[in-house]
Amino acid sequence: MTDPAARPLLFFDLDDTLVDHRSAEEAAQRETFERCSGLLAGLSFDEWLATYRARNRPLWDAYGRGEITRQVLQHRRFRDPLVALARDPARADEVGDFYLSRYREHWTLNDGAEEALEAASGLGFVGLLSNGFVEQQRGKIARFRLDRWARAVVLSEEVGAMKPDRRIFDAAVDAARLAGAGEGGRRVYVGDSYPHDVAGARAAGWEAILFNPSAIPAPGPVPEVRSLREVGRLLGEA
Ligand SMILES: [Mg+2]
Repeated sequence: MTDPAARPLLFFDLDDTLVDHRSAEEAAQRETFERCSGLLAGLSFDEWLATYRARNRPLWDAYGRGEITRQVLQHRRFRDPLVALARDPARADEVGDFYLSRYREHWTLNDGAEEALEAASGLGFVGLLSNGFVEQQRGKIARFRLDRWARAVVLSEEVGAMKPDRRIFDAAVDAARLAGAGEGGRRVYVGDSYPHDVAGARAAGWEAILFNPSAIPAPGPVPEVRSLREVGRLLGEA
């Protein structure tokens, strides 16, 4: 039997790696756009979605740096695009609540996600490591029964640090140890974001695999896969 201390830690990102967040976000935003046709009258859906995404990114970054609270993030992620489009910001929370209720209805796994987890669980200790709201992320794990493979779940809200902060990667090592994994083996993180996942993991002493289905040129050299079906093979190559 393999020495458990030498088994690698193989952790996966959730949003836009295992779970197709971007499509769920777009589908839920389309329903939100249709429901709020009066509030958003005269705009195209693409305009609304692009403004929402552009205004969201700096808010998540500020939240990651601890500059704003979750409550502020949750309010402003709809308030800011409404203000930018000269719409009534008093409707922000109502719009946000509707969006979140629809978002969870559109979750799907990315193609090959289960195969990647299955392959990884044959090679090492599997865990999940994710930013995002805790209920949403726990909801995704439960919906797709990702605990069939994952022995540890590390979420930024519970750790108090977001990727690329190394504290969340250190917390993953601690969680794996608590779950009975050793510390002697490789540590590999699979994610879709170069700055958050690849750079964060490497700064914490992990290896990284970039999930890059759109083949967007990465800012630096990194092992990458176009399909999650390729992850097992890459993990198997020590
Ligand atoms: Mg991601």
